Amino acid sequence: MNGSRKLCATLSEQLQEFPNTEVWLAPPFVYLLELVKDKRLQAFASIGAQNVHEDILGAYTGEVSATMIADIGATFAIIGHSERRIMNLENDTIIERKVKSCMDVNLVPLMCVGESLEQRQEGKAHTVVHAQLDSLRSRLETVESDTLVVAYEPIWAIGTGISSSPSDADEMHGSIRTYLGSAGAELRILYGGSVNPSNAQELINQPNIDGFLVGGASLDPTSFNTICQIVSEH
Ligand code: PGA
Repeated sequence: MNGSRKLCATLSEQLQEFPNTEVWLAPPFVYLLELVKDKRLQAFASIGAQNVHEDILGAYTGEVSATMIADIGATFAIIGHSERRIMNLENDTIIERKVKSCMDVNLVPLMCVGESLEQRQEGKAHTVVHAQLDSLRSRLETVESDTLVVAYEPIWAIGTGISSSPSDADEMHGSIRTYLGSAGAELRILYGGSVNPSNAQELINQPNIDGFLVGGASLDPTSFNTICQIVSEH
């Protein structure tokens, strides 16, 4: 719930295309259609939602379905962001249904997983993340690995300015890959949590980090372009 129409226009004017780098933008719902129709962004960016409802149709006043997001030409949806898990009480069952509803209409679910600081301090980070991935494991046996994306976002790193150390993040990404079996080897796994132009290089250098889910730094086109450039030149 950050940004404005003005910021969308600024991003549309200033975001740059970099070779071998995919740029995906997930604005709030009300700005989606305008960005989907933006001719300049169409050349290099994919547009998606920050959430969808778990059902594809029905009397759910105020909600937006995966069908609707696909209908306007968006291509992906973020599912299970920790803010929604915590503030909107989304549990793994609901998140599994959201992933399914996206896949049913050919939207790529970008599924977020991650542990709290307490869980990490108690040595439970891997167990927690693996449990969040359980529903994807069986699904991955039957789908192409490019039809979904996982983002590892340790909760304590989101919006705090304290990112995971590159080696800790890489260790978790490796563990996610192994846990997901043979499809995990091909899966795109993004890191999210206080990514900025200063830490992006060291993070992207890690073998198991394929890209980033950027929050705060994406609100500044210069910072976001710099992060994209670092990924592109990696
Ligand atoms: P941040 O946000 O980059 O500001 O930490 C990440 C997120 O909200 O997913």
